[in-house]
Amino acid sequence: MADALDTLLTEIRACRLCTRALGFEPRPVVAATRTARILVIGQAPGSRVHASGLAWDDDSGNRLRGWLAIDRETFYDPAHVAHMPSGFCYPGKGKGGDLPPRRECAPMWHARLRAELPDVRLTLLLGMHAQRLYLPRGFAPNLTEAVRASHHAPDGLFPLPHPAWRSRLWMARNPWFEIDVLPALRLRVAAALG
Ligand code: SF4
Repeated sequence: MADALDTLLTEIRACRLCTRALGFEPRPVVAATRTARILVIGQAPGSRVHASGLAWDDDSGNRLRGWLAIDRETFYDPAHVAHMPSGFCYPGKGKGGDLPPRRECAPMWHARLRAELPDVRLTLLLGMHAQRLYLPRGFAPNLTEAVRASHHAPDGLFPLPHPAWRSRLWMARNPWFEIDVLPALRLRVAAALG
């Protein structure tokens, strides 16, 4: 018999709320089991992930796994790592690249999904959309300062830049990220999975 989480995931995967706004068939990308220790909250799937249906199945995912120092097997095992983007579906392209996550999505699904993940010890907030949803108001004036203050973030939250190709430029401008933040992040990941 399906448990509450399985039922919820089926409901999410069947969601077509944004069909009209998107102008194409939504494909919600989400993965979780009740034992997950790490919750990854990114932005929204890109076109490649929209095609494959597998979260972080792109260069950003390779970079993220490098930051976390975990292999693909662990990263894609929902018994360990749950994936809940800010918007579950590819939002389409605008003039400056992919559009932001659909605003309907987080209020519609996030609280219900998080309620089914009782063992999460570490929640990664990748990029400004996830940070706007989950960091306390006034935590930091911008993404860079939020990441710099990651050791002060409450409730197992860990703000990070989005690992898109642009993050390489950001990392070059902010060398403290590799020196201070990534080692701390890897310790937190190992402790959460341990
Ligand atoms: S983005 Fe979220 S709310 Fe919109 S169709 Fe996809 S799952 Fe539903």
